[in-house]
Amino acid sequence: MIGSVVRACGAAAFGGGILTHAAGGGSVLSLGPTVQGAALAMQPAARLAFDGPLHFPVDVTGGDLVLPNGFGGSSGVHGSGGHNGVDIGNGCSDGRGRPLLACVDGVLAGERVLSSAGRVRILADGVGNFYRYHHLDAYELSVRVGDRVRRGDVIGYMGSSGNTSWPHLHFEVWIGALSTREGGEVVDPMPRLPLPIDGVTVGPPNC
Ligand SMILES: [Zn+2]
Repeated sequence: MIGSVVRACGAAAFGGGILTHAAGGGSVLSLGPTVQGAALAMQPAARLAFDGPLHFPVDVTGGDLVLPNGFGGSSGVHGSGGHNGVDIGNGCSDGRGRPLLACVDGVLAGERVLSSAGRVRILADGVGNFYRYHHLDAYELSVRVGDRVRRGDVIGYMGSSGNTSWPHLHFEVWIGALSTREGGEVVDPMPRLPLPIDGVTVGPPNC
């Protein structure tokens, strides 16, 4: 049963949708001009930015974390090859409310509620890379759009908002921009995660 639950992540279909919507609607993404300008100005350095692992985006305290759905994989919701990130959630316990942590030093560049991805927060590292956190149960309200964040800061809480029934984090890494239309490239987060970590299993739960 849990095998079907963990596959219920519907976040991949709109990979670059946020900035596309922002360009047309203006108010859907709170990406301030300062943040946007900084990111664009430093864009040429984007591909040099990954000189070390990201901070793991979920609090590992207590363990019981699994990564059952990898980048580019298929599932009933995503379709073949449609998964733009990795899913990280509890394996054998309820992970709702688990702290989600900033994976880089940067800025909280945007947030939005989408039908598929649920509550979303986006970090920008200032050198052209963006990190998307989907399905949040709640935002950490002490951090607001435009605020600077440091690696490990709590930015939200794990949940199942949007098109999923399994409380988990769908985590994406974008280089250059938040959509392919704008020249961005979505990449596999796995090589950038600081694995292995005790209590974190790459694969399905084994309860
Ligand atoms: Zn996912």
